[in-house]
Amino acid sequence: MTSVTVPFVDLKAQYQNLKAEIDAAIAGVIDETAFIGGRRVSAFEEEFADTIGTGHCVSVANGTDAIYIVLKMLGVGPGDEVITVANSWISTSEVISQTGARVVFVDVDEYYNLDATKLESAITDRTRAVIPVHLYGQACDLTAIKAICDAHGLQMVEDCAQAHLSQWRGQNVGTFGIAATFSFYPGKNLGAYGDAGAIVTSDAALAQECRKFARHGALVKHQHTMEGINSRLDGIQAAILSTKLPYLAEWTEKRQAAARLYAAVLDGADSVVLPKLRQFATHVYHLFVVQVGNREQVQQDLTRAGVQTAVHYPTALPLLPAYEYLGFTADDFPTARSNQSRILSLPIYPEISREQIEYVCDCLVSATS
Ligand SMILES: *Cc1c(COP(=O)(O)O)cnc(C)c1O
Repeated sequence: MTSVTVPFVDLKAQYQNLKAEIDAAIAGVIDETAFIGGRRVSAFEEEFADTIGTGHCVSVANGTDAIYIVLKMLGVGPGDEVITVANSWISTSEVISQTGARVVFVDVDEYYNLDATKLESAITDRTRAVIPVHLYGQACDLTAIKAICDAHGLQMVEDCAQAHLSQWRGQNVGTFGIAATFSFYPGKNLGAYGDAGAIVTSDAALAQECRKFARHGALVKHQHTMEGINSRLDGIQAAILSTKLPYLAEWTEKRQAAARLYAAVLDGADSVVLPKLRQFATHVYHLFVVQVGNREQVQQDLTRAGVQTAVHYPTALPLLPAYEYLGFTADDFPTARSNQSRILSLPIYPEISREQIEYVCDCLVSATS
């Protein structure tokens, strides 16, 4: 058993399973020299909108741009505030600042997502939008968050970068707010072979504005009705994403099966806190995050045993040096603060084997007891 090495993610395993299809897709794009835009990009946009169950998909260069573009096209700017969650990847908050608005953080709940019970008290008369993040792949309480947004006339923009095909009350995340954003960074549940992202919305006018802004402010060549940015999905990434999309549901089930096995094997291990599942939410396990004491030591022991782990994220956003200017203290976000030194992400990917999971669990139990 000791010779088993478990990587944190294994993108090679997936490529090897799909090699012929992926290679053909890439060769096809090169053959057509359709490097930017073209039929493969439009095809992927249509397929992805259908998969999520919404009307429109605007492909962009990455998941960070996706959020920025939506906020800009909703008119968010200087003088406004946008609320998001205290633990996420920094993309979610930095794009708020990039619009000129001020970022406002709300602590996490026991499911690692925006605590809806603390949302209302963060709202001021400057608040324009709320960005819930379905962190690690589990859907937020969208009923509660949306109800508060509606009561205060705020737009809800879902950050679905870690939550492809996750559901809230049987409906895909990404379909609850005015718009939602996805990342196809290689390690995400649906990953390109480079940077890629998308905006989805059922609002045709908003989709059109986002598309225009992402294409230098021109829907028709040279007819710039505004200044925009350059944020495009390239043909090779679109072809790869279209090749992979039909497998996403199956890969999601495999992630869920891996998570069930982790939970079963670790059941009864007092030293490991398993992820809690929210009623009416599904979890697509972009990450399988446990809590342990003495995390640095545990992580080192696992590394020595050949098990790669990671931390998402080691510092809650408001406690990062980047947000020192906002003047928060650790007491403002007690749950995120307490989690940051305890959370540990274990290896998970569709191709992970039963033996690998059992080995990780063995190592984890001995490292924590
Ligand atoms: C990955 C990620 C993003 C940004 O995606 P990129 O494609 O890397 O720009 C945004 N939000 C969250 C929560 C993410 O995990």
